[in-house]
Amino acid sequence: MEMLYKSTRGDAGVVTASQAILQGLAPDGGLYVPVELPKLARTMRELSQMTYRETAYEVLSLFLTDYTEEELKACIDAAYDDKFDTEEIAPLVQADGAYYLELFHGATIAFKDMALSILPHLMTTAAKKNGITDEIVILTATSGDTGKAALAGFADVPGTRIIVFYPKNGVSAIQERQMVTQKGDNTSVIGITGNFDDAQTGVKRMFNDAELKKELAAHGFRFSSANSINIGRLVPQIVYYTYAYCKLLAEGHIQDGEKIHVTVPTGNFGNILAAYYAKKIGVPIDKLICASNTNKVLFDFFETGRYDRNREFVLTSSPSMDILISSNLERLIYHIADDNSDVTAKLMKNLTDGGIYDISEKMREGLADFASGYATEEDTASAIRTLYERTGYVIDPHTAVASYVYKEYVNGSRDNTRTVIASTASPFKFARSVMAAIEGKVSEEDDFTLIDRLSAIANVALPPAITELRAAPVRHDTVCKTEGMKLTVSRILGL
Ligand SMILES: *Cc1c(COP(=O)(O)O)cnc(C)c1O
Repeated sequence: MEMLYKSTRGDAGVVTASQAILQGLAPDGGLYVPVELPKLARTMRELSQMTYRETAYEVLSLFLTDYTEEELKACIDAAYDDKFDTEEIAPLVQADGAYYLELFHGATIAFKDMALSILPHLMTTAAKKNGITDEIVILTATSGDTGKAALAGFADVPGTRIIVFYPKNGVSAIQERQMVTQKGDNTSVIGITGNFDDAQTGVKRMFNDAELKKELAAHGFRFSSANSINIGRLVPQIVYYTYAYCKLLAEGHIQDGEKIHVTVPTGNFGNILAAYYAKKIGVPIDKLICASNTNKVLFDFFETGRYDRNREFVLTSSPSMDILISSNLERLIYHIADDNSDVTAKLMKNLTDGGIYDISEKMREGLADFASGYATEEDTASAIRTLYERTGYVIDPHTAVASYVYKEYVNGSRDNTRTVIASTASPFKFARSVMAAIEGKVSEEDDFTLIDRLSAIANVALPPAITELRAAPVRHDTVCKTEGMKLTVSRILGL
């Protein structure tokens, strides 16, 4: 079955998978969704005999039908190799009654690596398939995690360049070090003397700058974006939910066909949407439990049917979930409106205009697949501490939000269905918050000292991504003002 994609907002026509990956956002501002959802061609029993890479092929080939078998396998092999520090790619760890799906064994020790290690290959293959000879320039503003994962994914991928802007004084010491030591002749990292919003606005302005676009084309370049609304990031995330189910089956934790729950710490709604698609293509998943931190706009939405972004933005210990507009929710809205793009476009306009929209009673019925909850800062810290005290297993603050919400769900429902918790970052990436949660408080030690102590108490070796950081030379030291971003890009590209 050929899979085509259309916009959640309507009239932009249909495109192939490779075209959707090249474009990212649809021309009408909507997100690309499959015109019809596929079904897995193999049984769970068959899939349970497969490696991560083989499972990836089974899932990707359903969605990316205009790629050949050879092309997809080449992308998969280039992505899921020894950049990951375990052959399993996404190991499942049982602790205190749940199964933690560790999605942090890639180059930057957070789950964004799962998709960003394959996206560059899907994108350059897409360019070739569509007769595009321009070099692809990825332009990104980052508050820390995404930029580094994109850098690691695109580094030294032929036919691409990547330029990342980050707020000079707005990321953690470890995050900054991760970025400024990035290898790869096609990578550029620039600190700006402004905050994340300034960086984001500057990047958006360049994307919409018609004159710049012309100049780029004249020099054989074109901009593209690696953000989480690209289906080239979404589809690879469906793989690990399929893999996790099959792993539980292969190891005898569940019977064939037995349903499981999945709990996901949620920000932009990409990761949990991938779990929703996994369910739709036939993975026996019952509830999708959506876990928020104090920025609980999604929890309120599931409770009331009203999405309301008009509220205070709170900085938490799970910064990658500090989001008030969850972009990927638009795809769920579209599906629960029976794939109605007029309804979706209207609600998204309400969101842009007033920061608020209400869904109908009928649409709310479509949310029956979901449960939701949230964790305060105290809840998050207590989840880290409790799990450590009971089992010795250490989780990061994002995963802890999910862990807490899952426990609350069980306490409220007495539902003991086997549950997979998406574990989205290594605790070493957030060592300060983790050590503070376990020890009550931390003194003025630097991050690397804390990391060593964490390694000792958790009895886990430091991941190579951290060890390498210590000795790595600084390769990027450019700093510019927000107004200077365009000039900096022109200089890097030699325009
Ligand atoms: C990005 C991120 C999340 C949130 O994922 P979404 O797909 O945006 O919902 C959660 N945890 C970590 C560590 C992340 O980097």
